[in-house]
Amino acid sequence: MKRDDLSGALYGGNKVRKLEFLLGDARDQGALRVVTSGAAGSNHALATALYAGRCGFRTTLMLCEQPSVPGVAANLAADVACGAEVLFDSSYDEQQARVQAAEAHYRALDGISPYLIPPGGSVPIGVVGFVNAALELSAQIDEGSLPMPDRIYVSFGTMGTAAGLLLGMRAVGLPSKLVAVRVTPEPVANAEKFRALFDRTGELLRERDSSFPRCSFDHRHFGICDDYLGGGYAIGTEVACRAIDQFEAREGIALDPVYTAKPAAAFLADAVSGQKRDRVLLYWHTKNSRPLPVPPTTFDYRRLPEGLHRYFAGC
Ligand SMILES: *Cc1c(COP(=O)(O)O)cnc(C)c1O
Repeated sequence: MKRDDLSGALYGGNKVRKLEFLLGDARDQGALRVVTSGAAGSNHALATALYAGRCGFRTTLMLCEQPSVPGVAANLAADVACGAEVLFDSSYDEQQARVQAAEAHYRALDGISPYLIPPGGSVPIGVVGFVNAALELSAQIDEGSLPMPDRIYVSFGTMGTAAGLLLGMRAVGLPSKLVAVRVTPEPVANAEKFRALFDRTGELLRERDSSFPRCSFDHRHFGICDDYLGGGYAIGTEVACRAIDQFEAREGIALDPVYTAKPAAAFLADAVSGQKRDRVLLYWHTKNSRPLPVPPTTFDYRRLPEGLHRYFAGC
């Protein structure tokens, strides 16, 4: 298992690797405010609030409706604890309209353009963080910390993690096959958009350093696995629940139902199926395991936009 839950001391998970480059870019551009968007319980939004706050940026999170699953309320409370401005839209379209207007709105408010990060931080400059991650893995294999994996299982959400890993693996010639396990529906994540992100990230790296290799996007090196999505984004499945129980019981690792349980279920199924038994399978764990920032004792969820209150029902 690749423990990206420990990728940062403040907060771990996969978004930290992207933010390393995104926030550096924001600083280079002289931005004062970072604006990002996502679902109500977005880990990316929380990671941005935390690290952008630490870097001295004002932070605005544009969140939208999602199924109510455990963890949404805790992330929202932590967003507030980071001092982020939290806005809410009930539909994705309304959220997009708000995002479109953000540039002009915050330029007027702050006197300078905000730095806009799209959902999941999955733009080339963020994806570079996962090119780095593949280089890190390759170095760990060379050191003998783990055997060469035959397959690497990773979550396929906004695709940045998988695109960066695939590009980095191709750049260093790692022969492992990447299995990207779908956790978002086809319009969000598909082979065409995946290819575009892979190509654009390669171009960005070659612009910065012409020695970065030209890597071909080849279906022999990866697969998109659609079998574990179930009813859709953030909708649990029985096999995902079993993966949560098994990881907890055997490794003490907490998975989440939205992003990590589905790829973990794919990994477990292949690990026990006879045909693949003798192979080396790597599960890339993308969820944070650090404690969340604690909201002040004066925190009152009713001061959040009204559409977000339902996630606190029963709290
Ligand atoms: C965002 C997220 C993912 C998905 O990564 P993408 O780069 O968006 O595909 C996986 N796991 C966790 C815990 C996440 O927060």
